[in-house]
Amino acid sequence: MNSAPEPAFTLRLHGAGGAFSRRYGTTCAELRLPDGARWLIDCGRQAPEQLHAAGVRWHDIHGQIVTHVHGDHIYGLEEFAFSRYFYDLDAVGSIRSGGPRILLVAHDAVRREVWESLASSLRYVPDLPETGMGTLESYFEPVPIVAREAPQGNPWDHAQTCVSGQLRVVLRETVHVPGKPSTSVEIALDRAGDRVAWWSGDSTVDAAFLTALEPRTSVFFHDCTFVDYPGQVHGAFAQLERLPEAVRRKMVLMHHEDDLELHRERAEALGFRVALPGDAFDLVRGVRL
Ligand SMILES: [Zn+2]
Ligand SMILES: [Zn+2]
Repeated sequence: MNSAPEPAFTLRLHGAGGAFSRRYGTTCAELRLPDGARWLIDCGRQAPEQLHAAGVRWHDIHGQIVTHVHGDHIYGLEEFAFSRYFYDLDAVGSIRSGGPRILLVAHDAVRREVWESLASSLRYVPDLPETGMGTLESYFEPVPIVAREAPQGNPWDHAQTCVSGQLRVVLRETVHVPGKPSTSVEIALDRAGDRVAWWSGDSTVDAAFLTALEPRTSVFFHDCTFVDYPGQVHGAFAQLERLPEAVRRKMVLMHHEDDLELHRERAEALGFRVALPGDAFDLVRGVRL
């Protein structure tokens, strides 16, 4: 007797490079859920070209997850919002004609900054009455937060959980740029969220957290820089290479610089995998497809 197929949670990195990468492109990953819903994790400045080259249309995407507001993570959102607002495509009507808004999953401290960044173009919506101004909700449908963890040092919740259909994610604050809201994404691979795949967004290395999360994590995607400097804001390889082997063997390095090939052999010898644009992963098994 055939057993039921495994739930198909897949993640494809359309861009796999860091903020200044030309060779690997800025961050944009596509998450597919078992029911076929498609979400983007971040939407960097090169995302419109990356998605076009991959044959993905804005109207194919149900929702957007945002880790934090830096151009390499969100500067593709203006085109996403305007395309969906003004254009119909196949069965997906434009937002202005009553079509679905883009579902938005972001920590509320991040969501405020998303609008701060986009407002100067998106607030001018031609369909609103003369006195009206567009808001984030003119384009996006924020997904409600169903659970919170109390603040730890910053004035915003340490973590927030969002659920939309088969998507269940915990957005947990990371240490990226001091004082700036920024989150990682724990993607639940079962209904309870007992098994997760983890995406760092931009984060320095929190070895204790990653080690504690490892037993219930199928795969970690961590931003990585091979350049260490005072005031580090990313996953310094010098820290990543000291993680326990069990974590390293589940870890895929992404958001790296263009000199990746100089370091790749050393990283792979330690058990890390390295993400390139177009790579896709089965999140349940934690393997590259
Ligand atoms: Zn970044
Ligand atoms: Zn950043």
